[in-house]
Amino acid sequence: MKIDVQDLLTGKSESKIVSEDFNLKTLDFNNNEYSFEGPIHIEGTLNKNEDGIFFKGNIFAKVKTVCSRCLDEVVKDLNIDFEEEFNKSQDELGYTINDNKIDITKLIEDNIFLNVPLKTLCSESCKGLCPVCGTNLNKSTCSCDTQIIDPRLEKLKNFFNRD
Ligand SMILES: [Zn+2]
Ligand SMILES: [Zn+2]
Repeated sequence: MKIDVQDLLTGKSESKIVSEDFNLKTLDFNNNEYSFEGPIHIEGTLNKNEDGIFFKGNIFAKVKTVCSRCLDEVVKDLNIDFEEEFNKSQDELGYTINDNKIDITKLIEDNIFLNVPLKTLCSESCKGLCPVCGTNLNKSTCSCDTQIIDPRLEKLKNFFNRD
């Protein structure tokens, strides 16, 4: 998504308000695929500084992912504050001004990458899946014996049962 900043570069205007919806289907990150519910909204203010354009604002997104314990779908609200600079010359982040325009796609993706939760739980008290039968223990119960006996305790039990 490109934004024309010619007026700022020529000094015709002091600042520019940005308020845009951005459609991004999926992002792959750390072997997790994230998709989004509804458009991603970006808003903020562009200002000229000595080297280029300064962009300060917020990104709002509803990211869909799965609970790390029970694998149910979870939708998380992201509200990201950002401050970035677009320069006339190429810099290592790749935020450059081309043809009097800035491309904010990478900025949005980079900031979402930095803020998506690596592990998400549907709730802190999520009971997860039964390791034996895979039942979602938040929704139902199963009759599997999932009690794991510590081998050290097993020895102790035998010790007391010797006579
Ligand atoms: Zn869960
Ligand atoms: Zn089970």
